[in-house]
Amino acid sequence: MVPGVRLVVLGKQGAGKGTQCVRLSHHYVVPHVSTGDMLRAAVKSKTPLGLRAREMMDRGELLPDDLVMEMVGERINESDTRARGFILDGCPRTIAQAEQLAEMLRPDRLDLVLDLDVPTSLVLERLASRRVCVDCGANYSVTNPPMINWTCDVCGGQVIQREDDTAEAISRRLELYERQTAPLIEWYHKHKLLVTIPGTGSPDDVTARAVRVIEERRSAPGILKSEEFS
Ligand code: ADP
Repeated sequence: MVPGVRLVVLGKQGAGKGTQCVRLSHHYVVPHVSTGDMLRAAVKSKTPLGLRAREMMDRGELLPDDLVMEMVGERINESDTRARGFILDGCPRTIAQAEQLAEMLRPDRLDLVLDLDVPTSLVLERLASRRVCVDCGANYSVTNPPMINWTCDVCGGQVIQREDDTAEAISRRLELYERQTAPLIEWYHKHKLLVTIPGTGSPDDVTARAVRVIEERRSAPGILKSEEFS
């Protein structure tokens, strides 16, 4: 079996993170740990965390670091992630979260941080047409709908437009991304973990690029020959 991996995927909303993370989690046989999906599940089942999170999420605000990192810490400490690793999607979003994550992983560290680079004009287009399954989080779009009447092909759940995919919440999330998350790119670059790949082209193209840089990294650990791959 292919060896596991400890990977963080960064990228603006609509950069295709969710799609690529699912594909990479199948390729490397590791769990896809998505903080957005975990929080939406908590909101749906009205847990104490979900009740606290709902309003902030609907406004497109980030939740407090400690709240998110407690949830992530519990997940990455489970036996499946400890044994083979994870594809972390949606976290870290701030430098404080990145520092806490590094602390949680010690004495291990991340293998790589993959930054999916997509122009803002394209993510705006993608977000306006994005539709998701309320149950399993599978992604669709107006131009790529499920086969039958907005019913998820994977699990039969209802496929809808996310409440935070409104024009207002999208611009708020992109603004927050620039302000809080983009500095992470610099932080991971300094820690020699970052590789930026173009998130444009077909989903297959992007997955192939991602697997290529991960394998390059494995064959020469500690050395990133290039920060840009095409
Ligand atoms: P997107 O990347 O499209 O904003 P996500 O599904 O990753 O969507 O997250 C949805 C919402 O969940 C965010 O807008 C935020 O409110 C909350 N959230 C998810 N991950 C984090 C995180 N690491 N830190 C703080 N808030 C988070």
